[in-house]
Amino acid sequence: MTELELRLSVIATARAMSQRGLSPGRSGNVSCRWAGGMLITPSGMSYDAIEPADIVTMTADGSSTGTRKPSSEWRFHLAAYAQRPDMQAIVHTHSMHATVLACAHRSIPAFHYMVAAAGGRDIPLVPYATFGTEALSRHVANGVSERNACLMANHGQIAMGATLSAALEMAADVEVLAEQYWKVLQLGPAHVLPDDEMDRVIERFKSYGQKAQG
Ligand code: 13P
Ligand code: ZN
Repeated sequence: MTELELRLSVIATARAMSQRGLSPGRSGNVSCRWAGGMLITPSGMSYDAIEPADIVTMTADGSSTGTRKPSSEWRFHLAAYAQRPDMQAIVHTHSMHATVLACAHRSIPAFHYMVAAAGGRDIPLVPYATFGTEALSRHVANGVSERNACLMANHGQIAMGATLSAALEMAADVEVLAEQYWKVLQLGPAHVLPDDEMDRVIERFKSYGQKAQG
């Protein structure tokens, strides 16, 4: 893809995130890798108003070019890419149920087998740190080191993908799982699947759907 095509894809992903109700108000941000660094949404702009020239180009060491200020969360986007060379895109949202669990300091255990879609036996919660800080970027890097998504205490969630649409789908999956888990908790303790069962699910996911036969 050309740089312009990628800028348009970042905008389309941010708009889809907002239109699907995954990111109240102006919360959240979207990025994808570009030229050793990344393209990232501008800070605090309405997604409907963003044009390709508003997307900010950043190098891996955090310097930016363009007319707009980058997302205040550029540090954790760069830290997550450094942690996960296999990932190409990031969606950060304050989606309702993921944020509710994160504010209650609850990670998502294996209450449903689909938790494995995030790459492991649970969806972890990382500790709170002020938005935009180096401390938050360290927590987020830890959270995604062995998972494709994590909850962020008193804040929201981050999801990664091999493409922008995969990152958005991951964020949407985390939100559905968070809502389901929150509802299960209304009925009493969840029945958490054992580790060996989740390991079987993780193995089966490798050949699930239209991937190569396994
Ligand atoms: P930005 O508009 O600066 O990306 O901030 C939104 C956000 O979600 C901060 O955590
Ligand atoms: Zn945020």
